[in-house]
Amino acid sequence: QGLRRAVAEKQQKDDEAYSQLTARVETLQRKLSEMEVEATLDALTKVGNRRRFDSALRRLVGTANEAGSSLALAMIDVDHFKKINDTHGHPVGDRVLLCVAQWLSRGVRQTDVVCRYGGEEFAILLPGASATEVEGRMKKLLMDIANSSYEYDVLGRKEKVQFTVSCGLVDLDTNETEELFVKRADEALYEAKKKGRNRVV
Ligand code: GH3
Ligand code: MG
Ligand code: MG
Repeated sequence: QGLRRAVAEKQQKDDEAYSQLTARVETLQRKLSEMEVEATLDALTKVGNRRRFDSALRRLVGTANEAGSSLALAMIDVDHFKKINDTHGHPVGDRVLLCVAQWLSRGVRQTDVVCRYGGEEFAILLPGASATEVEGRMKKLLMDIANSSYEYDVLGRKEKVQFTVSCGLVDLDTNETEELFVKRADEALYEAKKKGRNRVV
């Protein structure tokens, strides 16, 4: 009887330990998948980060080259952003970046990939679309951004911020490399800046 009781107690302890471990593993698995998502998100704007962009670029350029399907890339940079920081302060600059990210995310399709490429520069990969098809939509988006203004409070006083963005837009060429594709988008963006900003080239 003593032996039976000892075995039953041991069994119960093992069961408890087992269910504790199972719960712990489940928590860790959930945390890991949360972290995996977070690792590819930009902390400030919550769109994809550079890591997400690089892997989406590799995947989408590969698919488009294999299938001979179209792929467009838009590089978007906030105009005179340094001045926004200098005039309104860094925290307001951060809000502007968040705002741009939201405009861009709202303005694209579910399958398009919006990422923060660096500082105040964003990139959008648009699979299955040509630059000509996207151009109208990007122009409208730039116009909406330019025609909006944002108010914030400083010590009870209202301040207004307005800003514009420029966009370089390109189509993936036949069998083009990722590097060249991005380089041409950057060049188009540079052209948009040179031509006076707040425009799509
Ligand atoms: P352009 O119209 O030619 O693009 O001029 P610009 O002033 O926008 O470009 P420039 O490259 O001279 O300045 C970019 C600024 O962006 C400088 C940098 O301090 C600021 N910046 C980069 N990342 C962040 C950020 O996360 N938050 C804020 N507030 N500013 C940032
Ligand atoms: Mg800029
Ligand atoms: Mg820039």
